[in-house]
Amino acid sequence: MKYEAVIGLEVHAELSTASKMFCGCPVVDATLSQPNTAVCPVCTGMPGVLPVVNQQAVEYAIRVALALNCSIARTSIFARKNYFYPDLPKGYQISQYEAPLAENGVLRIDTPSGERDIRIRRAHLEEDTGKLTHVSENGESYSLVDLNRAGVPLLEIVSEPDMHSVEEVRAYAEELRAILRYLGVNSGDMEKGVIRFEANVSIRPVGSTELGTRVEIKNLNSFRALERSVAYQIEQQARRLDQGLPVDQETLGWDEARGVTYVQRSKEEAHDYRYFPEPDLPPLVVEPEWVERVAAGLPELPRARVERFEREHGLSRADARLLVEDRATGDYFEQVLAAAPDLPPRLAANWILGEIFAWLNTSGERIESIKVPPAGLGELLHAVQSQQINAATGKAVLAEMLQSGRSAGEIIAERGLAQISDADYIAGLVAKVIAENPRELSSYLAGKETLSQWFFGQVMRLAGGRANPQVVRAELQRQLSEKKTA
Ligand code: ADP
Ligand code: ZN
Ligand code: MG
Repeated sequence: MKYEAVIGLEVHAELSTASKMFCGCPVVDATLSQPNTAVCPVCTGMPGVLPVVNQQAVEYAIRVALALNCSIARTSIFARKNYFYPDLPKGYQISQYEAPLAENGVLRIDTPSGERDIRIRRAHLEEDTGKLTHVSENGESYSLVDLNRAGVPLLEIVSEPDMHSVEEVRAYAEELRAILRYLGVNSGDMEKGVIRFEANVSIRPVGSTELGTRVEIKNLNSFRALERSVAYQIEQQARRLDQGLPVDQETLGWDEARGVTYVQRSKEEAHDYRYFPEPDLPPLVVEPEWVERVAAGLPELPRARVERFEREHGLSRADARLLVEDRATGDYFEQVLAAAPDLPPRLAANWILGEIFAWLNTSGERIESIKVPPAGLGELLHAVQSQQINAATGKAVLAEMLQSGRSAGEIIAERGLAQISDADYIAGLVAKVIAENPRELSSYLAGKETLSQWFFGQVMRLAGGRANPQVVRAELQRQLSEKKTA
C-alpha cells in the first residue's frame, strides 16, 4: 500500500456512579428501566434550576486520568456547548473545553508488531444526552425521547492521531475498556451503550509527515463497527486519492447493515457551538492531596497484571491476556493457585481457558457465580496432576461439578473413577487383549506398526477408560516387542 492510515479516537465512557453528573437522579440501566423515570427539573432543563457537580464522578475521572498517565489540572472549567437537538432539553451540554481535567497522557498497547505507546491528548468530564428512538409506522414518522440518560456522567478521552491500522485501533479500544473495567468506573457492557467511539480517519502517502484531511465517524458502539468503519474509510480515501480526487472533511455515520459510511454533515454545515464558561458552576478545583489519595487506591492495572502472570507463572502473553481481560477471571486463576500452590500454573490456566470458558459460554454464567469455587478446581487438578484420574475423566468430573456443585473427591469416589496404575493388573489386561486378537497381532508382526494404537484402544476400553495411559502404553510396547523377538 502506498498510503499510511492515520487515526485518532474519541471515546465516550459513561461513569457508573450512583447518581447523575449535576443532579440527584439515579443512573439506571438503560435496557431495564422504563423511559423517563429517572428525571428531575435539573436534567430536564427546567428554568431556574442549578447544577451541582457529582464528586464521585470527578473521582472516577481522576482514576482514569491517573491510569492513562495524564497530568491532572488543579483547576478545570466547565463550559456550555450550545446546540439544539431534542435529546438535549437545556439547549446546551455542560462539558469541558479550553481547560479540561486531564491532558497529555499515554496508553500502551500490544500490536502484531510489538508494544506501542499511543498519546492521549485530553480527558474531560461532561454530561450524556437523552436517547432518541425514531419510529415510522402507518406512513407517519416521529421520534420518542428517553431522558433517563440525560445528565449521566460521561468522560471523553481523546487520543492523538497516533494509530495507523485497524489492528492498532482495536488494541487501543480494548485496552482502554479493560482499564475502565479494572478501575470499576464503567461496566464495559458495550451492548448497553456505556462506551461509544468516534473515529477520526485520514490517510497520507507513506513517508509523509503531514496530516491528510480527516473524516469523523460518529457513534460507533461496538468493536466490530469501529473496525469495519475505519477499514472502509481507509479504502475509500485511498481510492479517491488514486483517482486524483480530494478527501472531503465530513462527519459520517456508519450503516452497520450495509457496511458503508454515509454523510451526516459536510464541513460547511459544521456546528458553531459558541462555547463559553458555564456561569452556573464554579471552576472545578482538584487538590493534589485528593489526587494522591486516589492514586494510592488504584488497583493493579491489566497490563501490569499480564506482565506479572508472564513473569511469575510462566504464561504466554496470549494466555495471560485472556485471563486478565476480565478482573474476576484473573482473580479466579490466582485463587486456584493460592488454594493449590504446588499445581503448575499453566495447567490451571489451560483448564480455565478451555473447560471453564466453554462452560461460561454455554451456560451464560459468570465466573464469580459458578458452582465450582477456585479451591474446588484446585482439588480436581490435583487429582489429574497426581494421575489419580486421567485428563479425559477429569473433564467429565468437572462437567458434573459445574452442574451439581459437588466436589471432585465425592464424584471420583462415588463413581469409582480413580485411575488404575497397578502394573500387574494392567499387564493382565494387555496380555488378554493380545491373546484374544491373533489376526491383528500377526498383521502387526508383519509390519503394520500402526496397529499398536488399536491395541492401546482395546486395553483402555477393557479398563473402562480408567487405566493409566502411560503405564498401558509402556506395558503394551514391552509385550509386543517380546512377541517380535519370540
Ligand atoms: P474535534 O473533533 O472536536 O474537531 P480535534 O481537532 O481535537 O477535535 O480532533 C479530535 C480527534 O481527531 C483527535 O483524536 C485527533 O487525534 C484526531 N485527528 C485530528 N486530526 C486528524 C487527522 N488529520 N487524521 C486523523 N485523526 C485526526
Ligand atoms: Zn435529574
Ligand atoms: Mg471530534
